[in-house]
Parts: sequence; C-alpha cells; structure tokens
Amino acid sequence: MHYVFPPAAPTGIPVAGTEAVFPVRRVYCVGQNYALHAKEMGGDGRQPPFFFSKPADALIPGGGRIAYPPKTDNLQHEVELVVALSEGGADIPVEKALARVFGYAVGIDLTRRDLQASAKEKGRPWDMAKGFDQSGPIGAIVPAAMSGHPQKGRIWLSVNDAVKQDGDLAEMIWNVAEIIANLSTCVELAAGDLIFTGTPAGVSTVVRGDTLRCGVEGLGELTIALV
Ligand code: MN
Repeated sequence: MHYVFPPAAPTGIPVAGTEAVFPVRRVYCVGQNYALHAKEMGGDGRQPPFFFSKPADALIPGGGRIAYPPKTDNLQHEVELVVALSEGGADIPVEKALARVFGYAVGIDLTRRDLQASAKEKGRPWDMAKGFDQSGPIGAIVPAAMSGHPQKGRIWLSVNDAVKQDGDLAEMIWNVAEIIANLSTCVELAAGDLIFTGTPAGVSTVVRGDTLRCGVEGLGELTIALV
C-alpha cells in the first residue's frame, strides 16, 4: 500500500520539561462553561455541557505570530484550560476520568464572533467561526505528574498589557472530570485528544497589531501577536 501523496504529519505539542512531543488526535471544545461568560453570551449559566471541534492542524503550539484571519471584523479571544488525554474510552465514569489525563496546557479558542453570531441566528454550524486556520494557539503541555489536576487557580488574558479576562478555574460550571465523562458519552475518546474547557468572562475584540498574553496558574504562559 502506498499513499497517493505523503500524509500530513500529526500536530505535535511540546511537553514541558522534556524533549517529548504530545501527538494530537482530535480537538474538542466546551461551550459556555463559566457562568459569567455564558451570561455575556446570552445564556442562563446552568445548562448541560455542549461541544464543538477544531481541526488538529488549527493548533499553533507555542503561539507566536498569528495571521489575522479572513472573513471577520470581530475576532475575539477565549483563554482556556486545555486537557490532554493519554487514554480514552466511551462512557467513562466521572471518578475514573482524571486517570485518563496526561496533562494540561493554556490555550486560546480564537473565535470569529461575527460569524458565530450569524451561525447562531440562522441555526447553522459553528465550524467557520471556531475551526479556522490558526484558531488554536496552545502552550506546552504540563504533565499532570508535575501539575496535579488543577481544580482552582487564576486563568487570565491580557491584550497589550491590559487585563481582559481574569477568572478562576474553580468557576467552571462542569469540572474536568465531568467534561471528560460527558463527552465520552457522545464520542469514544482516545489518547491524543485535547479538550478546551471553556473561557471565563471578559472576551473582547482584538485587531491586527495586538499582543495577547495569557496564562493559567501552574501551567505557564502563552503569547501571540496578531499580524
Ligand atoms: Mn471557547
């Protein structure tokens, strides 16, 4: 057997403190998982989790320079705790979920908010609002063996040094174990899957020339420049 052309290499994310690279399979994202952000998006703050996806090759490991995307006049940032799985399964019980976690990272769910608003209004898919090229800058993955499983801690993002998002992981409506358990009832999870776990309040519009810096306590920082 041979491929008609060489297949794309998997997206790899550096693992903090090692030379190893985490190979990405799928990228899932949770919508509206912090009450204040759900409210700023027009929700009521207490709904079952819902999910969407980004293509694995939309991730930009390490951040850096990111091209301002086409087809939008309202690009927004969503800083998120990202969970990286080293084991998967279907119908994973909540109490067994964290044992599947390899580690954690800080990521940004870049969103073309105008396309998302129009998709919501028309009942259309979110793919072009959420899954565009370079829509997922992500920092190094910190193994859970180093970080533990963070249940609380500051999650923040600044634009040109002005703090826009400043929340705490403890404000998540669905915690990491509950997210894994719920998602695994929808799809079978596997090693290499990432889950963006939602963003705290304070999302805002960014423009070319802006520098975004963000972090999650204990997981380091990530910086991107929109060019
Ligand atoms: Mn998000």
